[in-house]
Amino acid sequence: MDFRLDEEQQALRESVRDFAREVVAPVIGEHYEQHTFPYEIVRQMGKMGLFGLPFAEEHGGMGGDYFALCLALEELARVDSSVAITLEAAVSLGAMPIYRFGTAEQKAQWLPKLLSGEALAGFGLTEPGTGSDAGGTRTRAVLDGDEWVINGSKAFITNSGTDITALVTVTAVTGTKPDGSKELSTIIVPSGTPGFTVAPGYSKVGWNASDTHELTFDDCRVPAANLLGERGRGFAQFLRILDEGRIAIAALAVGLAQGCVDESVKYAKERQAFGQPIGNYQAIQFKIADMEMKAHTARLAYYDAAARMLAGEPFKRQAAIAKLHASTIAVDNAREATQIHGGYGFMNEYPVARFWRDSKILEIGEGTSEVQRMIIARDLGM
Ligand SMILES: Cc1cc2nc3c(=O)[nH]c(=O)nc-3n(C[C@H](O)[C@H](O)[C@H](O)COP(=O)(O)OP(=O)(O)OC[C@H]3O[C@@H](n4cnc5c(N)ncnc54)[C@H](O)[C@@H]3O)c2cc1C
Repeated sequence: MDFRLDEEQQALRESVRDFAREVVAPVIGEHYEQHTFPYEIVRQMGKMGLFGLPFAEEHGGMGGDYFALCLALEELARVDSSVAITLEAAVSLGAMPIYRFGTAEQKAQWLPKLLSGEALAGFGLTEPGTGSDAGGTRTRAVLDGDEWVINGSKAFITNSGTDITALVTVTAVTGTKPDGSKELSTIIVPSGTPGFTVAPGYSKVGWNASDTHELTFDDCRVPAANLLGERGRGFAQFLRILDEGRIAIAALAVGLAQGCVDESVKYAKERQAFGQPIGNYQAIQFKIADMEMKAHTARLAYYDAAARMLAGEPFKRQAAIAKLHASTIAVDNAREATQIHGGYGFMNEYPVARFWRDSKILEIGEGTSEVQRMIIARDLGM
């Protein structure tokens, strides 16, 4: 067992780390304050190939793997989570369903733009009335001749309303199964389709430079050929996408947790109290040592889940553990980093204020902590 990164992985990590420090850090505070989407950063991430990281070259990808994506997410989130979630949602929720389940035509039509970062896609699963219980989907799609007619709404959909959003994949009830349960399918809805309305962006506690909207479908018609994969496979499709996505969110959470360590070490060496740097006090050192321990163990958890996934082994439990643990310690580290910064930690100009505001959603998005515990317990046979 070897958790050391090879040369290529180290080079990727270094280049994303430099990009985050040199390009993202100087401007992201302003985007966050103004609630503006960082188009220029996204354009540059596209040029670096980040949107194509885990995809095969034949579709315009970089020929890397899911672990490479996780490494990039960790380094971005170490500086800023809005940028990191934009990449995570674009790749693991936006492009991945088309890559995994799309027809040859769908792949040819959408993947080149999505994998270059020229366009973004959203993943429309959550609804205003149902999130954790995704099987409770109420949005309906009825086949009328050679078109799907979609009615319903989706809530909190990331990357769904930017100027470069090309499509949203929408989970909808398309019928009833022989056992009486809902038949769920996934349908591609291109941006601008009549009947598809994107509400103004939410006012959020954190991730303020990321794009999140409620979506409404009102007799929205798309070609029958926009069905993603097989009819009735919607449930299995989103379970697969979310299992993988949990590893990516864990990596993002580890990045935030490590960013808290970075900022705390720096501040503790500079800030004087009672005649010496606060970092000289063991109470502060111990806080930072615990933060580093938590970031490190959470990193090992996501490395393990990613390794199992890439080896083709079952990884559901490990992905849930990684997501649960990493999001928990991200919240812990953000709280402690703010404490170490004292009153300045409560000022938005300090990165730790952003880390604190961005940490809580990690225990909610792509499956709450309660849902992760349900997955782990179920996998243990309960
Ligand atoms: C900023 C942001 C971005 C998002 N992006 C996307 C996106 O791109 N695409 C998308 O589809 N969704 C997205 N989501 C939705 C997100 O995945 C859901 O919010 C999340 O899954 C929780 O669903 P919910 O909000 O409906 O909470 P609920 O499911 O209503 O849960 C409420 C509370 O009840 C608990 N609970 C529910 N069921 C149980 C149970 N059986 N046992 C114990 N406790 C339970 C939950 O853990 C939670 O604490 C996003 C959300 C946010 C805030």
